[in-house]
Amino acid sequence: MKAAVINDPVDGYVTVKDVTLRDLKPGEALVDMEYCGLCHTDLHVAAGDFGEKPGRIIGHEGVGRVAKVAPGVTSLKVGDRVSIAWFFKGCGHCEYCLTGRETFCREVQNAGYTVDGAMAQQCIVAADYAVKVPEGLDPVEATSLTCAGVTVYKALKVADIKPGQWVSIVGAGGLGNLAVQFAHNVFGAHVVVVDGNDPKLEAAKENGAEVVINRHEVDSVAQAIQEKVGGVHAAVVTAVAASAFDQAVDSLRPDGKLVAVALPQGDMKLNIAKTVLDGIIVAGSLVGTRQDLAECFQFGAEGKVKPIVKTRKLAEINDMIQELKDNKVVGRNVVDFVHEA
Ligand SMILES: [Zn+2]
Ligand SMILES: [Zn+2]
Repeated sequence: MKAAVINDPVDGYVTVKDVTLRDLKPGEALVDMEYCGLCHTDLHVAAGDFGEKPGRIIGHEGVGRVAKVAPGVTSLKVGDRVSIAWFFKGCGHCEYCLTGRETFCREVQNAGYTVDGAMAQQCIVAADYAVKVPEGLDPVEATSLTCAGVTVYKALKVADIKPGQWVSIVGAGGLGNLAVQFAHNVFGAHVVVVDGNDPKLEAAKENGAEVVINRHEVDSVAQAIQEKVGGVHAAVVTAVAASAFDQAVDSLRPDGKLVAVALPQGDMKLNIAKTVLDGIIVAGSLVGTRQDLAECFQFGAEGKVKPIVKTRKLAEINDMIQELKDNKVVGRNVVDFVHEA
């Protein structure tokens, strides 16, 4: 079967190769891939930013159908549509795995990084960890919910935002666009969106944002938010600039919560007096658990969130990597394996 494999030596790109997968071990299933999205995280992995993994199959936004299960597997059957996510498997017995925080497991395995991933015609999964995709959900759109979707859905859960409260989404790109939809359509929140790009802000408005702020057009984003809505109850930061985090803290109302999702280099400035006097909470949020993903898929199936996706051929994978590096991609590029053969 064909797979996108990290180059040796590692140079940020991949080679499409014929690969033979090993036999299934107990507890595993074989998935015939239908679609797999290409994510910014794949670029980091292919470049060796998290440690070099030459020869590894990339991909953690996969959706496909179970072709085979190992003896004893009861959670999946042949024909089930499942997802392959960045959170591939936890140890199943540590403090975090046992208390609904499995993404923080210290022995976590990640698809397309520590184990072979989904940018391939077939992939081996840990059956109990492959979250099912509901039949009512478009499988191409499901690939984006597997990563960007569940990440922002989880971040809004961490934000603990209540219906009628104000939340700001800082950064209106791939993550931010979905965050607006979840905040408005699922959490029933009032939404402020901050970005530097007018077309992205227009798209945010169409998705339900009530207040949009172009950061180039105001002296202070925080001040503008304080004046317009009296500060936000929570800010979810998906923008990859450290300064966005500082502004987001200052845009909070008392007892407000900052949820960090993006991963810029550097430090966040945190005013100690404001933090103490206003009871500010700062939290990080990392992808989502299997349960978060199942919920996220269900909201997608109900039409409450709709990712922007475009299908491509596996042979174009390095072009797709280049376009993502050059920041030319709107929504997600998704490799179509259904029509690959
Ligand atoms: Zn991803
Ligand atoms: Zn664990």
